Amino acid sequence: MPKDSQITESMGSQPMLIEQKDQLEKDRLKDKLKEVFGYSQFRGNQETIIKNILKGKNTFVIMPTGAGKSLCYQLPAVFLEGTAIVISPLIALMKNQVDVLNALGVNAQFLNSTLTKSEINRVKQGTLEGKVKLLYVAPESLTKPENISFLKQSNLLFAAIDEAHCISEWGHDFRPEYRKIKTILDQLGQLPIIALTATATPKVKLDIQRNLQMEEADVFKSSFNRENLYYEVRSKKDIKKQLIKFVKAHHGKSGIVYCLSRKTVQEIAEFLQVNDIKAAPYHAGLDSNIRIKNQDDFLNEEIHVIVATIAFGMGIDKPDVRFVVHYDTPKSLEGYYQETGRAGRDGLEGNCLMFYSYNDIIKLEKFNKDKPVTERENAKVLLEEMASYSESAVCRRKQLLHYFGEIYQGNYCSETKWCDNCRYPKEKYEGKDYVLTGLKTVSLTNERFGLKHLTDVITGVSSQYVQSYRHYELPVFGSGKNEGQEMWSSILRQTMLLGFLEKDIEHVGTLKLTNKGRSFLEEPHSVELSKDHDYGKEEEPSITDEAITRRSYDISLFELLKGLRKKIARQKGLPPYVIFQDPSLEEMAIIYPTNREELSQINGVGRGKVAKFGQPFIETIKHYVIENDITTASDVVIKSAINKSKIKIHIIQQIDRKVDLEEIAESKNMKMEELLGEIEQICYSGTKLNLDYYVEQIMDHDRQDDLYDYFLNAESDNIREALNELEDEDFSEEELRLMRIKFLSEYAN
Ligand code: ADP
Ligand code: ZN
Repeated sequence: MPKDSQITESMGSQPMLIEQKDQLEKDRLKDKLKEVFGYSQFRGNQETIIKNILKGKNTFVIMPTGAGKSLCYQLPAVFLEGTAIVISPLIALMKNQVDVLNALGVNAQFLNSTLTKSEINRVKQGTLEGKVKLLYVAPESLTKPENISFLKQSNLLFAAIDEAHCISEWGHDFRPEYRKIKTILDQLGQLPIIALTATATPKVKLDIQRNLQMEEADVFKSSFNRENLYYEVRSKKDIKKQLIKFVKAHHGKSGIVYCLSRKTVQEIAEFLQVNDIKAAPYHAGLDSNIRIKNQDDFLNEEIHVIVATIAFGMGIDKPDVRFVVHYDTPKSLEGYYQETGRAGRDGLEGNCLMFYSYNDIIKLEKFNKDKPVTERENAKVLLEEMASYSESAVCRRKQLLHYFGEIYQGNYCSETKWCDNCRYPKEKYEGKDYVLTGLKTVSLTNERFGLKHLTDVITGVSSQYVQSYRHYELPVFGSGKNEGQEMWSSILRQTMLLGFLEKDIEHVGTLKLTNKGRSFLEEPHSVELSKDHDYGKEEEPSITDEAITRRSYDISLFELLKGLRKKIARQKGLPPYVIFQDPSLEEMAIIYPTNREELSQINGVGRGKVAKFGQPFIETIKHYVIENDITTASDVVIKSAINKSKIKIHIIQQIDRKVDLEEIAESKNMKMEELLGEIEQICYSGTKLNLDYYVEQIMDHDRQDDLYDYFLNAESDNIREALNELEDEDFSEEELRLMRIKFLSEYAN
C-alpha cells in the first residue's frame, strides 16, 4: 500500500514530529492539488478523505453530484507511486474522465470492450511499468481471467468504486455486475476500497457497506445542499409557451429537458428545433449511432438542449449544464434530485424548473398497476412525496434536504431567495392548534400509522381501519372535518419538516413522534405554516428567468474566450470543458491574465493546462485588453502579491452571492475599512458590483437619495469633501464610501 516513504522515513513518533509530518503532508498535498489540478483549496472534506485514503483505510464517500468526488481518489493516485483501479459503470463516463485527466497531463487509461488488442496490450504494459496512475475498468472487464492475472502482477494502490449505489437494488441504477466486485477484488490481495456515491438514503448506504464488506469503513457524508441550484415548480398550464420562454432566456447555454416518454422526447425536441433552438432527442429507443452523436454534440456544444428520458444522465459529466427542466413530473424525489443535480456541477448558475400536474402523478400510478403489491405500495409512497413536494409552499431546499435525512438550518435560501417558494412566499398561518391535533392523533393511534389513516381519523372518515381499530372513539376523531383531507395532509407534512414527526425506516409510510414532537405536546407553542400551492387557481408568479443569473465578470471577454475554447476543442476533438471550465474562464474575465504566470494563478488552471492550452488564451486576452484599454491585475497589483487578486475574486464572488460585507471581512480577516478599499479598487478597475442588498440593510431610501444626489452633482468624489459638505446630515464614512461605490458602479462602469 501507499509508498509514502519520503514522509514516514526518519520521522519518529514524538507528537512534535507527527505534527510536522502532518503539516508537511498537508503542504505537499496542496502543492500537488495546485500543480496538477490547478485548484488552490480543497473543497468540503476532500482533504480529510484524501488523508484517510493515503492511510490505506477503507473509505466511504457520500457527496452530492458536483461536490468533487473524483478528486478524492485522483489526487492520492497522482500523489503515490503505483496504480489505482477505478471501477466505473459506463464506458462513456470512463472515457470522459480519462480525457479530462490526460488534458491535465495525468497518465490515466481505461480497459474496456471498445479497445483493440494492441491498445489493450499498451495499457497493460504501461500499468505493469507503473506509468499508469489511474486505470479505469468496467465491472465486466474486471471479471475476465486474463485481466485478473495481469492486475495481480501490477502495483495496485487501492480500488475506487464510483457510483457505488449501483450495488444496491434500492438505488436508482442497480447493476447486477456491481454485486460481484468484492469477490473479484478479494483475488487481488488486500486492496483498500474507496466507495463513492451521490445517493444518500440510509437503506442504500447499508446495502453498499454490506455488499463490499466494509461496515467498518470511515464514512464521509457531505451536506446535500447544492447552494448554486435554483429550484422552481410551475404548473403545466401553457407549458410549451413557458418552455420556449425559459429556454430562450437561457440562450446559448447548455440544458437538459427531461420527459417521461420517448414520444414526448421526440415531440419536444422537434418543437424546440422548429423554434430555432439547437436541440436534439435522446432516449434508449434511438439507434445507438444517433444517440452517441447527439450526446457528443451536446458535450461539444454543437447542440444546446438535449431532450431526454432519464436514460440520459449518469454518464454525463458535463460541468456547465446551466438548466434542467422536468417537462413531466418525476417518479420520485430522489430521481428528481439526481437529475437536477446535473445542473451547475461547476458551482456556477444552475436553474432547475419542474412542471407539475397532479394528472402526471395519476398517470404514473397507473403504470405501476401490474407490479407486485409491496413494490406498488412503495412506488405510491414515493409518488405522494413527489406530489407534496410540488404542492408545498415550504422552501424547496428544506424539503429536499429533509428527504435525505438532513435538517436544513441555514437561512441562505430565504435570504438569497434561491428557490421559488422563498422568492414568492405564499400566505402563512398560525399552526399551533393544527400541529397539536396532528401530534395528538399520532400519539393516540400509538405511532403505528401513516398519513392517510391519520387524516382519515382527523377528518372523521369511517374507513375500514378506523372501524377495526375503533379509532372513531378517539377524542380527535372528526375534530378537523372543516379543513378537509388535503389541508391536513399538508399540515402533517409540515409538522414533519418542523422535526416533530419522523418516518419509521423499518415500516415504510409510518410516522412516529420525535423528542421534539413530544415536548411540543407538553408545551405547545406558536409555529408558522404555509398554505399549499393550488396550481389550478393561482396566478403564475412573474417569470424569473432573467432575475436569477448573477454575474460580474467581463461578459464580452468571457464570450470571446468561450468561442476560442470551442474552436480549440474542435481541433483537438475534445469537449470544450476539458480545455478550461467555465469558472476558470469567468475568473480570466475578471483578472485578465496576460502571461503564463498569471494564467497559472487562475483556479482550475494547473501547470499541464498552461503548457497545453494556455498560449492562445493569453494572446486573446492581451489583444482584448489593449483594444479595450483595460487596466489589468498586473498593472494595479504588485507582482509579488498575486494573492491580492485572489482576494478580489473572492470578494466579487461573495458580493454576487449577496453575502453581508461584515461576513466577507470576517472570513478574510480584514477590517471593514480594508474591505471597502478592496471593493473600491475593484470598481475603479471597471468591474460592476451590485451592493444594493447591503445598502438596503443599512440605509433608508431618503438617506440613499440624498447621497446619490450629492455624488451626481459634486465636482469630485472625494470622501473628505463629502463629509464636510454633508456635515449636518451626520453620514458615516462607511455610508459615503458605499454610496460612492454604488454610484460608480451604476454610472462609470
Ligand atoms: P462529482 O463526481 O462529485 O459529481 P466532480 O468530481 O465531477 O464531482 O467535480 C465537480 C466539479 O468540481 C468539477 O468541475 C471539478 O473540476 C470541480 N472541483 C473538484 N474539486 C475542486 C476543488 N478543490 N476546487 C475547485 N473545483 C473543484
Ligand atoms: Zn428556499
